Amino acid sequence: MLNVTKEQNGAVLVVKLNGSIEESVDFNQLIGETPKELHVNCRGVPRINSVGVKSWIRYFQAVAAKGVTLKFVECSTAIVEQINLISNFTCGGEVVSIFVPFMCEGCKSELIGMFQVSALKQLKFELPTLKCSKCGGQAVFDDIPEEYFNFLMN
Ligand SMILES: [Zn+2]
Repeated sequence: MLNVTKEQNGAVLVVKLNGSIEESVDFNQLIGETPKELHVNCRGVPRINSVGVKSWIRYFQAVAAKGVTLKFVECSTAIVEQINLISNFTCGGEVVSIFVPFMCEGCKSELIGMFQVSALKQLKFELPTLKCSKCGGQAVFDDIPEEYFNFLMN
């Protein structure tokens, strides 16, 4: 079940997606008509299945075809996986910021950190360590840079 909250921010419509994107998702009904700029916040999307991917691409392609500027912000790790897997997943939109998986070296907790894409490029994908919220230890990037950041390296 996907919930969408909408917020008009000047000329920009900001939509926040919350929940899994599956068979039942109808983006036309949930988002509908958009102004000339649409920002999609994906931090609340834990999963998207293959049917969900199809409706996602169908909807955002139609939006992009109308000349709407699309930006994807705070993309969850599930969304980043799809961006890497499917070349037209963002339908020409810009990926502004993403969540990145980390693992604590002390207590092995899995954590996520949020990064601006521009900052990641500046860091040349060499991520700083994060402080573990559970034990205070050091958490390090927990994936393969060439895979997780693949969509940014091309
Ligand atoms: Zn820890």
